[in-house]
Amino acid sequence: MAKWIVCAAWPYLDGRPHLGTFMQLLSADVYARYLRLMGDEVVSVSGSDVHGTPIEVEALKSKTTPRDLAEKYHRQMVDFLNRFLVELDNYTQTESPVHVKFVQDFYTRLYENGFVYSKKIWQLYCERDRMFLPDRFVEGTCPYCGKEGARGDQCDNCGRLLEPLDLVSPKCVICGLPPVTKESEHWFFDLPRLSERLKRYIQDSVEFPENARNFSLTWLKEGLKPRTLTRDNRWGIPAPFPGSEGKTIYVWMEAVLGYLSAVKELGQKRNDDGLFERFWKDASTKSVYFIGKDNIPFHTIILPGLLMASEEKYVLPTQVSSTEFILFEGKKFSKSKGIGVWLEDAVKVGEPEYWRFALMYFRPESRDSNFSWVEFERAVNSEMNDVLGNFIHRVLTFVKRFFELTVPDPGELDDDSKALLRVLAESWQRYTSDMNSFAIKDAVRDALDLARRGNEYVSSREPWEKIRKNDVASAAQTVYVGVQLVHTLSLMIYPFLPRSSLKVWETLGLNGDPVSGGAGGGGTAAIRPGHKILPPSPLFTKVKVGGTG
Ligand SMILES: [Zn+2]
Ligand SMILES: [Zn+2]
Repeated sequence: MAKWIVCAAWPYLDGRPHLGTFMQLLSADVYARYLRLMGDEVVSVSGSDVHGTPIEVEALKSKTTPRDLAEKYHRQMVDFLNRFLVELDNYTQTESPVHVKFVQDFYTRLYENGFVYSKKIWQLYCERDRMFLPDRFVEGTCPYCGKEGARGDQCDNCGRLLEPLDLVSPKCVICGLPPVTKESEHWFFDLPRLSERLKRYIQDSVEFPENARNFSLTWLKEGLKPRTLTRDNRWGIPAPFPGSEGKTIYVWMEAVLGYLSAVKELGQKRNDDGLFERFWKDASTKSVYFIGKDNIPFHTIILPGLLMASEEKYVLPTQVSSTEFILFEGKKFSKSKGIGVWLEDAVKVGEPEYWRFALMYFRPESRDSNFSWVEFERAVNSEMNDVLGNFIHRVLTFVKRFFELTVPDPGELDDDSKALLRVLAESWQRYTSDMNSFAIKDAVRDALDLARRGNEYVSSREPWEKIRKNDVASAAQTVYVGVQLVHTLSLMIYPFLPRSSLKVWETLGLNGDPVSGGAGGGGTAAIRPGHKILPPSPLFTKVKVGGTG
């Protein structure tokens, strides 16, 4: 039994979460469920990243406070997670008092350990509003493409990342006046000092996917740069360094510590004082981070660097599972351009559980994957419903109709049946091996393939015909073998379709649920002849999305 910390990248909330935002949270939930199924000890965490300028600027424009706005978005997200059956052990937010204290203590320690220094830099300052203007507080003309209205952190037109001082004719977004440049002191994390240790760590991290390792080694080869720790924002965690009054910790550098603070908070919620140390400070604990590909170096270099600099013996990331982009009808999801599927619309089309299936079916693991309404409909109707749901319902209905809800005695297995039971064992092995290597998308297909083989077996043996011709023995064997597949399928689909999995489990007349029942019987003929099942009902219904897209 292994011990795991399962982490999903903290989504930055600025209203209307879309499916792309949701991918990492769902992946973490699916994976945590899989690990529990296999008997591992798991804590799964994430939370809303609510600090920083986008929310601060939006609050200013909509005449509310950043705190109220953040709280609203956070509640909205929590509501979506519940509806999509995403049950992380702790989904918290960066305004949590536990997180705030953790971040301040953490950076105080880094300062004491000599990894934090300060330096004066030039920044834009609005004399009317009497404040420094970090990233989104300033807009102007993009120096690269000449487009007006580029923000201080990025130009939406050409996509380039910007610094406020890069902008041509900058303007304060609050009052519209041109700012002045003024010196401001800022604090930095001395990442370059850890270059050698980080290099050894990346080289030793043989479990990292190839792209993450190469990407990180390239970063190291190009030379690490100190990372800014502070911002002149008001909406954030006050920086704890001597002389840093009025500054806050840069959102990126505090949200990334949420993986730790959320476990600490979980321990408090559960009245388990030792939980945090048991997971975060035990060298045998494994950890996995579900992130977008643009976040790789943050999790393979900056987070490990921070953990090393704390000298607290925290466990470093053992695995990152990064995804490529999910495209919508061939285009990149974009909130500003209104391209994509929003969770609020998704829940109107089909059960939230169906989205869990479809998103993992389309999970962009090795290349960008395209999402379209037509493809969604096909995955749900032709794969989940017609292959998986149909096979399970067929077999259970045979048990009811021909054998009075009792799993029949198969007698001596013929070659066909033996072959299918071998397929069952191999299929379970492939499934666990895919899941163990974070190939979640392949694992979904393993379950579908097994159901497809089951359907072929049943169709070719026509148990209903055999019953009609009084060949009960043949029908009994077909149904018995079919039931064994249904049992393993109920385990395989548990991470993706937890509610349906439980329904199959209960219809099979089994106690508890797939997790408490243990996955030990996966891939084997675990259901004995004579076992009673309950009357089945269809597992899924078809969706119709015509007109939605
Ligand atoms: Zn531009
Ligand atoms: Zn101003």
